[in-house]
Amino acid sequence: MTVDRRAFLKGAATGGSAAALASVTAPGEAGAFARPSKPRPTQALGLLYDSTLCVGCKACVAGCKDANDMPVERSRDQESWNSMVTPEQRNQVVRQVGDTQPIWDTPKSLSGSTLNIIKAYVHGRAEVKDRAEDGFAFIKRQCLHCNDPSCVSACPVSAMTKDPDTGIVNHHVDRCIGCRYCVWACPFNIPRFDYDSAFGKLRKCELCDHRLAEGELPGCVATCPTGATLFGRVDDLEAEARRRIALKPGDTYRYPRGDINRRFGPYTPPHEKVVQAAYQPEVYGDRLLGGTQTLYVSAVPFDKLGLPHGPHIPDRMYATETEAVQHTLYRGMILPAVVLTALILIARRNVDRHHTEAEED
Ligand code: SF4
Ligand code: SF4
Ligand code: SF4
Repeated sequence: MTVDRRAFLKGAATGGSAAALASVTAPGEAGAFARPSKPRPTQALGLLYDSTLCVGCKACVAGCKDANDMPVERSRDQESWNSMVTPEQRNQVVRQVGDTQPIWDTPKSLSGSTLNIIKAYVHGRAEVKDRAEDGFAFIKRQCLHCNDPSCVSACPVSAMTKDPDTGIVNHHVDRCIGCRYCVWACPFNIPRFDYDSAFGKLRKCELCDHRLAEGELPGCVATCPTGATLFGRVDDLEAEARRRIALKPGDTYRYPRGDINRRFGPYTPPHEKVVQAAYQPEVYGDRLLGGTQTLYVSAVPFDKLGLPHGPHIPDRMYATETEAVQHTLYRGMILPAVVLTALILIARRNVDRHHTEAEED
């Protein structure tokens, strides 16, 4: 981040927040104001999602809803399955279920009632899985439980917190005032407002910590048949991810399922599979935006799967820069949260928004 300190201080001193904010320029470089990134806790828990193992069955979407007691949901554009089938197929279904009501597709996006979603990348003729050209691939989207989360920094009432031991980012409904600063601050576009609740409520994945407390696996992990979503200590998941990206097409590998550390849920034996496509030579979540506790490996480039990726994405979370600006300006006093959030928005304005657009497709 490059900060014209003089212009910033001048703007702030005269009460001109806009002028102050306008003096914060491109993100991605550690500016004079940046504080160090916060590391993830040594016992941090998280997920490893391997796109090459995902068959797009969406069992994890249903498992997440079940685990979090969330209702069935229509697609946001209310696209009916009826429009996607022939009249004969529709009549057959109507005969079977004895109903003339439209049949709705599953939700297409994250929402206040859907904390986990599987999206498809599709290119050209979509002939081969895990290929960028004329191929297709799947991507799982939920909270990434960032090492240094902007949603926590932006929340003015500490309704977003990060557990110092597990690193799980929790949302405390009882504290939330519905300002949605966390929504704007999240570079992954994750927190969603539940417009169906009486007073409005924000929802996001909390790694099913209520299930972990009972020794159970997160719902999405417990239901995944292939091990595409793996749970465990993030350090161990990252080591597993590095073993996978070293594999070559034709290699046979025993992919663990459930909990890589075998501490939660029933033991599920590994799933043996021949590697079909070369992995991208990178573990997503190991460094970008300060690192995350949900890690990804994939054969298709991460930016095509809608994840912020590329030379314009910094290794620091935006909060490292905006919080430091806050402290420099006010020396311990609290900058109004709206200004802090605006700072975050400016700092992240170059984030690749493809993931958002892809999600809404
Ligand atoms: S992905 Fe977004 S909501 Fe989740 S911890 Fe990171 S900043 Fe917060
Ligand atoms: S950890 Fe729980 S809340 Fe998060 S995506 Fe998986 S099932 Fe849903
Ligand atoms: S992550 Fe697992 S459960 Fe979810 S769609 Fe992929 S294979 Fe199915």
